[in-house]
Amino acid sequence: MKNLFTILLLICTFQIIAQTNLVSKLPYCYDELTAPDFVKAVAQSSGVCLLPIGILEKHGPHLPLGTDIFECRKVATTAASQEYCVVFPTYYVGQINEARHQPGTIAYSSDLLWKMLQETCDELSRNGLKKIIIVNGHGGNNDFLRYFCMSQLHSPKDYVLIFFQPNDNEETAKKIKALRQTTTGGHADEMETSMMRYIRPDLVKADQAGSQSGKNQGRLTELPNQYTGIWWYAQYPNHYAGDATKSSVELGKLLTEADADQLAQLIKKVKQSNKIEDLQNQFYQQAANPLNMKQ
Ligand SMILES: [Zn+2]
Repeated sequence: MKNLFTILLLICTFQIIAQTNLVSKLPYCYDELTAPDFVKAVAQSSGVCLLPIGILEKHGPHLPLGTDIFECRKVATTAASQEYCVVFPTYYVGQINEARHQPGTIAYSSDLLWKMLQETCDELSRNGLKKIIIVNGHGGNNDFLRYFCMSQLHSPKDYVLIFFQPNDNEETAKKIKALRQTTTGGHADEMETSMMRYIRPDLVKADQAGSQSGKNQGRLTELPNQYTGIWWYAQYPNHYAGDATKSSVELGKLLTEADADQLAQLIKKVKQSNKIEDLQNQFYQQAANPLNMKQ
């Protein structure tokens, strides 16, 4: 009887501890926070907010339209679970004009996607999230996002905008090489299919991966040394670059975790450092009076 009482007491104690942990642990997803908890989250994150940006576009014949959204959100949430910060909800307003011929593409106009991103950043800052890290999941956004970041220097801002740039170290690159079975790629390929098999296997139609060609069609090779907006369509009209008939969960896990680890390291450093803010403020002051600069 005495033993039974002790066991019951222990069970109750464990339950209380478990519940206390549950209550005290702040969610990192912006949309899961209550308003009072949001105030705590801003403090606990030191004002760091991840903004994962995906897109709605065809990913070969076998992956879902939201593939890039799933990928960048998984990297962001994995990193936030390692190093606390706030993660902005699903965002898919980006550059995707080159896929307008394929079903399901949502290609907003340039001025709208610019304004959406600017006002989203401005609103995050107004809510105390002064260090915004963009986690991009869509290759077609890269040029737009770099130009957007550079354009922030046009007028003073009370926040910093950082574009996460993952770069596999030698050891990870070796592991990836050992696991990869194909040599071509770029979109809905072996790597992306592997990531989706790790993140949302229920949405991957692996048996369909060979039903369309992911080969470079090279339809503009007669015109060397040029750039034109139609280049992607000229090469990959099926919106599929690579061969996803081969893929593995192991490779997907490695790619996702490698990016998430690097992102967690960046979050930690951004929390501790005000270097970007300091340089930005110095720049804004000098830009207001360029003639005062020592020549
Ligand atoms: Zn993608």
